[in-house]
Amino acid sequence: MISDAHGPSVWAVLAAAGSGERLGLDRPKAFAPLGGRPLLAEPLERLEATPWVDAVVVAVPPGWEEPAILLAEELGAGKVVSCIEGGATRAESVRAAVHEVPAEAAVILVHDAARPLLDAGVVERVLQPLAAGEWQGAVPVLALTDTVKRIRGSEVVETVDRTDLVAAQTPQAFLADMLRTALGGDVAAATDCASLVEAAGGRVATVAGDPRLVKVTALADLELVERLL
Ligand code: C5P
Repeated sequence: MISDAHGPSVWAVLAAAGSGERLGLDRPKAFAPLGGRPLLAEPLERLEATPWVDAVVVAVPPGWEEPAILLAEELGAGKVVSCIEGGATRAESVRAAVHEVPAEAAVILVHDAARPLLDAGVVERVLQPLAAGEWQGAVPVLALTDTVKRIRGSEVVETVDRTDLVAAQTPQAFLADMLRTALGGDVAAATDCASLVEAAGGRVATVAGDPRLVKVTALADLELVERLL
């Protein structure tokens, strides 16, 4: 673990401020029921148990800060330092959470609450490349197994060579200074933080992803994650 004498050095930012409209529930996705408790409980508990993470900042939808703090307390998730209001997009939520991370943090791990089944192994894998000094970021990836098509409307216009294409997951790890720089510009269109770091000139390594890191988007995903719990 990268640590220094002044305090926690690997900080995790949990992006949990999505509305989850596609789930069609009466509450945000982070508070959707999963295994009899709010979905957010799962990644919070798992980050708490991960030896590689020292402190956690959570971005939640406006008005959900208090329930998130209470949940963290209930779980005994003492690494949670603050629960803050997220932004209009994922990247803006991450940026708001990164503002809460102290300057002495060496590495920031960004994770989507919508991928509840976080495992300490993948956290260790994304942190490893950063220790070597050659990389500013690292992302877990999975090979694409489906054939990939480019479409226009309902028509296929191209079948894309998938040999060097992968699907990127979270948690993604970055040198803290690099992530702060990357979040400094226009972030609205970014679907992950690695793309911002790449655009800022950072080198991003890939490590093996985890098929259990299913992203909850629709109700069927929630049911699948529930079965995998
Ligand atoms: O919407 P999507 O599923 O792509 O969101 C990915 C992650 O980003 C989720 O964990 C969601 O809570 C988070 N998010 C956020 N703030 C937003 C939109 C999404 O923290 N405004």
